[in-house]
Amino acid sequence: MATETPPTTAVHDAHLRDAQELAQAHGVDPGTGLHADEATRRAARHGANELQDPARRSPLALLAEQFKDFMVLVLLGAAVVSGLVGDLTDTLVILVIVVLNALIGFTQAWRADQALAALRQLAAAHATVLRGGEVQVVPAGTLVPGDIVLLEAGNQIPADLRLIEIAQLQVDESALTGESVTVAKQTGTLAAQDASALGDRVNMAFKGTTATHGRARGLVVAIGMHTELGKVARLLGGEDRSTPLQRRLAAFGKRLALAVLGICAVVFVVGVLRGESPLLMALTAISLAVAAIPEAMPAVVTVLLALGARRMVAINALVRRLPSVETLGSVTTICSDKTGTLTQNRMHAELLLARGVRWTPGDALPGAVHREALRAAALCNDATRHSHADGDDMEATATPTTLADWQGDPTETALALAARAGGLDKAALDAENPRVQEQPFDSDRKRMTTFHRVAGGFVAYTKGAPESVLPRCTAQWTPEGRAPLDNAALLAQAGQLAAQGLRVLALARRGHARLPDTNALDAVESELELLGLIALIDPPRPEAQAAVRDCISAGITPVMITGDHPATARAIAHRLGIVDTPDAPVLTGADLARLDAATLQQRVEQVRIYARVDPAQKIRIVEALQARGHFVAMTGDGVNDAPALKRADIGVAMGRGGTDVAREASSLVLLDDNFATIVAAVKEGRRIYDNIRKFVRYTMTSNSGEIWTIFLAPLLLLPIPLLPIHILWVNLVTDGLPGLALAAEPAERGIMRRQPRAPTESMFAGGMWQHILGIGLLIGGLCLAVQAWALSTGNAHWQTMVFTVLTLAQMAHVMAIRSESEPLWRLGLGSNRPLLGAVLLTFLLQMATIYVPALNPIFKTEPLGLADLAVCLGAALVVYVAVELEKAWRRKRLPTTAAMDEPPPPARPGA
Ligand code: ATP
Repeated sequence: MATETPPTTAVHDAHLRDAQELAQAHGVDPGTGLHADEATRRAARHGANELQDPARRSPLALLAEQFKDFMVLVLLGAAVVSGLVGDLTDTLVILVIVVLNALIGFTQAWRADQALAALRQLAAAHATVLRGGEVQVVPAGTLVPGDIVLLEAGNQIPADLRLIEIAQLQVDESALTGESVTVAKQTGTLAAQDASALGDRVNMAFKGTTATHGRARGLVVAIGMHTELGKVARLLGGEDRSTPLQRRLAAFGKRLALAVLGICAVVFVVGVLRGESPLLMALTAISLAVAAIPEAMPAVVTVLLALGARRMVAINALVRRLPSVETLGSVTTICSDKTGTLTQNRMHAELLLARGVRWTPGDALPGAVHREALRAAALCNDATRHSHADGDDMEATATPTTLADWQGDPTETALALAARAGGLDKAALDAENPRVQEQPFDSDRKRMTTFHRVAGGFVAYTKGAPESVLPRCTAQWTPEGRAPLDNAALLAQAGQLAAQGLRVLALARRGHARLPDTNALDAVESELELLGLIALIDPPRPEAQAAVRDCISAGITPVMITGDHPATARAIAHRLGIVDTPDAPVLTGADLARLDAATLQQRVEQVRIYARVDPAQKIRIVEALQARGHFVAMTGDGVNDAPALKRADIGVAMGRGGTDVAREASSLVLLDDNFATIVAAVKEGRRIYDNIRKFVRYTMTSNSGEIWTIFLAPLLLLPIPLLPIHILWVNLVTDGLPGLALAAEPAERGIMRRQPRAPTESMFAGGMWQHILGIGLLIGGLCLAVQAWALSTGNAHWQTMVFTVLTLAQMAHVMAIRSESEPLWRLGLGSNRPLLGAVLLTFLLQMATIYVPALNPIFKTEPLGLADLAVCLGAALVVYVAVELEKAWRRKRLPTTAAMDEPPPPARPGA
């Protein structure tokens, strides 16, 4: 191996230098790659191949941010002034409370950042490298200069690479250059004047761009912030990470803040006019402003979203964009691939039909045509057997291999296994008849052809969808020569097999004396001789049926979009319950190509199955659905799926089978490639949104209660009911702890039996406004009633009582709003333990402020007698009962929630 030391920083003239010479300069042999030890050494020197995240905040910056709130600063100023002229304890207590508040805010923000970082880590890309002569898949962040990276279509380029070897590599560089045409790459050395712009450096592949076609081998010449992408990232700075909901809440908070400030001004003026000390009134008014302005709400929403997203990993749903957590609940249509998502993608061959004679794996081979068909199935095939099985070939040939021994496309694995069942070993055949050329499979052509050397020349085997292969066949192959072929009858036969849910492939061959020019595709894939039809079975996923049912009862339409045969698609869709009738309408890719946008928009309302669809057509389906007001989740795994994934409201990529390109374009990644996971994610999204709403309902009602109390007191000729410390305490403890625990609230019963929420629906929809004002008024009224009653009976503890009523009423409130409709006794006290704990803790803390003698002078409280405490508890009970009554009324009005315990409604008709 070369020993020269690699450059310490990025090489920016890599495109001007010879690839081999550059590899030597990097101390690497392109044939074997770096040694693992050397890679570790270089990683220590060069750092990680990561872009710095400008939005990532240091703990100190986070902490400082907590004190940036203008009102908090005003409060601190006022506290200091009041301390200087009067009571220093007040100032200290206010300081302590403000600092505690900041610490809580900091902890939340920190947790949110950690959760987001963990998600990013999980979503991080991988790269295929050659190290120590072995091909390995490693996290892209661990690449070092000098690494040899292997690329294939669908990969995101993990670092800046000087290309060493390519096979038809095409790269989409729009992410970097904005240029939307893909660039065909080459390996030759360029001259400086030809390659001033990045887009012209055709012998380089840049980090962040994507390979859309072909394969390549490249040398890493720059990583992380030294890459071209890194330079741009440095220029652009951080993107705005806030979600639409956060932005809406922040905007709403600003308007609310103005109103609150107005109210506080009134409180101040009225207080002073009534002869209170201006300093006390200023502190009261400012404390009220600090308590009632929901400045922390957008931040708490991040916490709830981020923690929710983290929880979703447990159900195999990885969220790549935080806003999708809040919009998942709005999904009205889920467009899913069939193979692997709705089905198990564990295929096996059911039968082979050649010259009208059926063969089932396990039986003896009936004839030479069947044998030749299986040869085609094994040779025109990219599946590989794991090396451990190859190790002992004698034994491997003798014992049948299972699916687990193979890797590659499940369709091809099934074919290789079928050949094996017929006594043909793929490895032996590959050795005997090496592949010399190929036309790879792609979903648009729906077929592939490979050329093999045989005695006396070459043979080309073609396999693919019957409609794609049969029209290219002009005869039936027999050992004796060409026999006539009834194309139409065979197509009909293929259709019959497909109608049983089988995936049917046609197998064909053509002999060549010389290797043809493969660029003329139509010429080489024509005049084929048919060998037979092979039918594969791919059973539906067992959990998919229940998931489809859940979808339908949740008002979500499941839609299947597949490259497979319409009859196969229909059979599987019917089996899964996506459609009710075995003859449900199917729209094919050919139909789609004919329909104009307006007609398509009408059709999408009825059609649940799309078959023989090219990935490029998916975007038309999404657009038509969106034009009809649907909120669409769409799955995809290939490079060509990316535009549709981006266009969909929720793009869903496959974590196991999919390409980097699809993942990059998506907002959700299914770690298990499973349809049921999308439905589970929607449910989780609904739960999280519900809990955010509960949090907002709780916080805003608490604030409203505090405002009503302070604002109405002077109008009712009562003294100021609460001191600044009480207000701040309520804001810190009472609002803070239980509010956050609402995030742990389990999903409401029947959450998947209600219609999707409109994405534009206001957070305050469904009577929330009225609740906030009404229940707030009730809490304020109760506080003031207790105050008036205590004053009229000469009770000296009236202020302690108001303070206690306010706190306890909020505890009663938070327990009552755990569900929007169900009574607390049906939820059970223990079903949200964090909340129960927070409520009990708050209660104990409140009791401590009253009954711990040392705290009395600080909180200006006095111990309450049992009767007084009972009055406070009674007032809290009134709030609880009122909210339960409100929910009972809502249950009556909304029959859907009342019927929650009944079995799900029958599936909607398919057409
Ligand atoms: P989905 O879109 O639901 O994942 P799919 O996997 O059937 O469906 P494609 O992979 O695009 O979609 O396949 C389309 C058709 O091409 C298949 O129905 C089959 O007839 C044919 N086909 C699939 N894989 C191969 C292959 N490896 N070689 C030849 N033909 C294939």
